[in-house]
Amino acid sequence: MLMFLSFSISTPLKALSEHMKGSISELEHQSSPGLRRQDEIGELSRQFSKLIDNVARQNRELDDLSRRDPLTGLLNRRSLTEKLQLLRKEHPEKMLCGLYIDIDHFKAYNDTYGHIYGDNALVLVSGELDAFAREKSGFAFRLGGEEFMLVLTADNEDQGFNHAQDLCERVEEMGIPHSGGTDSKCITVSIGLACTKEEKIVEEVTQNVLVRADKALYSAKELGRNLVQMYSTKYQDPAN
Ligand code: GH3
Ligand code: MG
Ligand code: MG
Repeated sequence: MLMFLSFSISTPLKALSEHMKGSISELEHQSSPGLRRQDEIGELSRQFSKLIDNVARQNRELDDLSRRDPLTGLLNRRSLTEKLQLLRKEHPEKMLCGLYIDIDHFKAYNDTYGHIYGDNALVLVSGELDAFAREKSGFAFRLGGEEFMLVLTADNEDQGFNHAQDLCERVEEMGIPHSGGTDSKCITVSIGLACTKEEKIVEEVTQNVLVRADKALYSAKELGRNLVQMYSTKYQDPAN
């Protein structure tokens, strides 16, 4: 009798209890012991398995939410290195380009049309950036405020520059009226471009691309806005 109880109840319960000690990410890919049993142990195992599936799904949803900007739905800074790594892996021979994009005179846009319309404009511009990024098999991010980053690959710096130039024109061609903006009287963007051939993409490389593209952006603003500037070493490279 004791042997029977041990074999049919105690041992399977111990196995289930051992299994339950695993982490969610481990358990998500394992089936619980006793899953097919038709008794209470089987029921316990099935319910536990369901619970793990739910928690794992919620974790994935939370992770996705934490990587997205709530207003525009674009990715945020958190996934920048991961996406650069992905592009490098898929296109080892290409140049990685980071486009730092800043809407011109956006404070004046808010002052003229109000913050709600300002938010709408951010959503519209984000949609265009995202569409452009997808066309070029790249990724678009909102870094904060009216500042965005787009990462894509190019055969060389000239092609990267042409892509940035196309994007700059595409935003202007959206024709979102902005009476206090640049001469075009529409919403425009300035873009700072930095490219890298670095093979191993780590956080430090991302940081350098960001800093360099930001410096180039600063120069684009100084030169009059609604244009693209490419980073060059004349801007005192922080990495050197
Ligand atoms: P510049 O051409 O030099 O970039 O000028 P700017 O006015 O765009 O730059 P500035 O940094 O002076 O102003 C940025 C403005 O962006 C100020 C802020 O109110 C606005 N802004 C930032 N985040 C949001 C947002 O989420 N919604 C709205 N509506 N406005 C925002
Ligand atoms: Mg800005
Ligand atoms: Mg701006």
